[in-house]
Amino acid sequence: MQTMTLTNAVAGPVEIPMLGYGVYKVPPDEVAGHVAEALRVGYRLIDTAALYGNEEGVGRAIADSGLAREEVFVTTKLWNDRQGRASAVEAFEASLERLGTTYVDLYLIHWPQPERGLFVQTWEALQPLLADGRVRALGVSNFEPAHLDRLIAETGVTPALNQVELHPYLAQHAVREADARHGIATQAWGPIGRGGDLLADPVVRRVADEVGATPAQVVLAWHRRNGVLAIPKSVTPTRIRENFESLQVDLSADGMAALDGLDRGGRTGPDPNTFND
Ligand code: NAD
Repeated sequence: MQTMTLTNAVAGPVEIPMLGYGVYKVPPDEVAGHVAEALRVGYRLIDTAALYGNEEGVGRAIADSGLAREEVFVTTKLWNDRQGRASAVEAFEASLERLGTTYVDLYLIHWPQPERGLFVQTWEALQPLLADGRVRALGVSNFEPAHLDRLIAETGVTPALNQVELHPYLAQHAVREADARHGIATQAWGPIGRGGDLLADPVVRRVADEVGATPAQVVLAWHRRNGVLAIPKSVTPTRIRENFESLQVDLSADGMAALDGLDRGGRTGPDPNTFND
């Protein structure tokens, strides 16, 4: 598995797999079976969140997989209602308990919630988790460049990673540039456009035909070639494998340029600047 090295807000250098398996909206009573399948196929990063309500099943699947805990990279996230100095570590401890593990590899603040104004103190409150070994890397999700600037200016601690909605219809140039400037890894959620129109786009289909791959595979190859980490989700075994096998797909400069040309600000999720619920 290809990896990237995280260097900010880490307890020692941390290698993160370029491709992972996401479990948003996977029902809690089904998640263990799907995660087990993903681990059999070769994924070594599982992306969950307190919000998803399926951390227990994720932890069970990893424990039952026959893999050592250190072989699987586990990401989970702090939900919005637990931001704040007093509640953040408690929320982390509840996630750890549900996951049934002694540490998580990457812990993220799920959304900035800018109007609530709690993300700076939340970030400060989480820092001791690095020193006490319960978190290997700390990061953020859905942070816009201005949120990153404020976080770094007020705390002096740069996040390891920023997980944002990112795919060819929403190329996120400003976020990727800000991440790169700060040495923050960019990770794409909704990397294949969440099962929407993207995979049926004629340009994506043409690029896929040219390299003898599927639409999902060429989109995932586009992320990798851009140096962007991705965490596609599927509960269908053939697609779980198909997405994993994107690691064997390479795009030409022409193929990259064709997918670059699809950017249209096509957000499927909330705008982080205005999402404060
Ligand atoms: P995605 O882009 O991974 O799309 C998933 C959907 O695409 C599936 O439900 C299925 O309908 C379809 N699909 C999957 N593989 C396919 C294939 N090979 N061919 C055709 N269709 C296919 O979207 P997502 O699940 O929203 O995002 C991935 C992960 O990112 C989530 O599971 C979650 O872990 C994370 N996420 C994070 C945030 C955040 O705010 N940080 C938000 C949403 C999702």
